[in-house]
Amino acid sequence: MSRAILPGALVNGQPATLGVMGGGQLGRMFVQAAQAMGYFTAVLDPDAASPAGLVSHHHIQTDYLHEQGLAQLMQRCAAITTEFENVPAPALTTLGAHRPVAPSADAVAIAQDRAAEKAHFVRCGVPVAPHALIETPAQLAAVLGQPNNPSGDGAAGDAMSVKADLFPGILKTSRMGYDGKGQIRVKNREALAAAWAELKSVPCVLEKMLPLQAECSVIVARGADGQMVNFPVQLNLHREGILAVTSVYEGAVPADLAAQAVQATRAIAEGLNYVGVLCVEFFILEGGQLVVNEMAPRPHNSGHYTLNACDLSQFELQVRTLAGLPLTPPRQHSPAIMLNLLGDLWPEASAKGPTSPAWAPVLALPGTHLHLYGKLSARPGRKMGHLNITGDSVAAVRATALQAAALLGIEAF
Ligand code: ADP
Ligand code: MG
Repeated sequence: MSRAILPGALVNGQPATLGVMGGGQLGRMFVQAAQAMGYFTAVLDPDAASPAGLVSHHHIQTDYLHEQGLAQLMQRCAAITTEFENVPAPALTTLGAHRPVAPSADAVAIAQDRAAEKAHFVRCGVPVAPHALIETPAQLAAVLGQPNNPSGDGAAGDAMSVKADLFPGILKTSRMGYDGKGQIRVKNREALAAAWAELKSVPCVLEKMLPLQAECSVIVARGADGQMVNFPVQLNLHREGILAVTSVYEGAVPADLAAQAVQATRAIAEGLNYVGVLCVEFFILEGGQLVVNEMAPRPHNSGHYTLNACDLSQFELQVRTLAGLPLTPPRQHSPAIMLNLLGDLWPEASAKGPTSPAWAPVLALPGTHLHLYGKLSARPGRKMGHLNITGDSVAAVRATALQAAALLGIEAF
């Protein structure tokens, strides 16, 4: 990416247009940020009712590998990004041959694969959970047959992961997992073979269950010129494998751990020569050690608070990295808590049509910001929106967030 794509400029005879592969809520918030700055937008997503497609100037409704769909996207767009990591990397390679694409197909390909991702973390010197690859029956047998030495993959070199016992563990598919899907907890060796069969014997990573004290994440934005900025460290509470609550304020994560997490995230982005917005998720173990979990080559659910609590949101920075505009360090101007609004909160659809939670009492609380993604049907676990809470003190934000949670039927935290 050499020259900046300026909003409002003409590029190849058309108003500067930014494109995104994928039409989910992350694409929608990217589109909204791009439009606020004056860009035109295009979304490629097969779903006619995709959240981003509904609000974009252009919606190309084809599969991600559809040749004509990709050609149309390139024809319309001056540069293209992605909003979810499971867009096939070859589609990004095709686009990247003709247009600036950020993040690159190579970076996305690594983030798509837990094994490649862990190998990258290890290369960057960031501790990972003890794990073993299970891609073949021989690897399965090796893990089953070596009671005290089940490791033996790319995790070498990291003191945490050498020769550790992997049980109880979690078997995770290497590809396509999200929100805890594609994962089975395995108590002991005996349960492993059945779990792998249940996951259709696709390539997997067996990870040791670690005693977690907490989870946190860091989001960075890195430009093509190598300039990088980061948001503050986010404290994340997951329930049933899905992010439930993100808290971001001074002291939410101890300062020394926060500094380590930022430094590790920067090293991981640097190591990928990454361009775009990247989120890295970490475990904080009971003993206080930091272990990297996974990364997302895009804005992240744990960064949604930036829409209301920071002077630049993660989506604005995504636009800037894609358009080759300057990056300035985002400044958080308010303590923040984000509550994820999952489909579980939606009342059963009535005969009169879709219903939705009672928002008025929640919006009557000071500093509440409702974001809904325009999804037309709710189901348990589906991300329907989020509620950001800001205020002038941590105590006020926490009190309001707990009130909002109680009103909505979200378990206290
Ligand atoms: P996903 O891609 O679905 O987000 P993750 O690997 O992040 O999958 O797992 C989802 C959640 O499950 C994590 O945020 C964490 O709460 C829990 N988890 C995952 N791996 C481990 C582990 N090795 N030890 C303890 N908890 C884990
Ligand atoms: Mg995760």
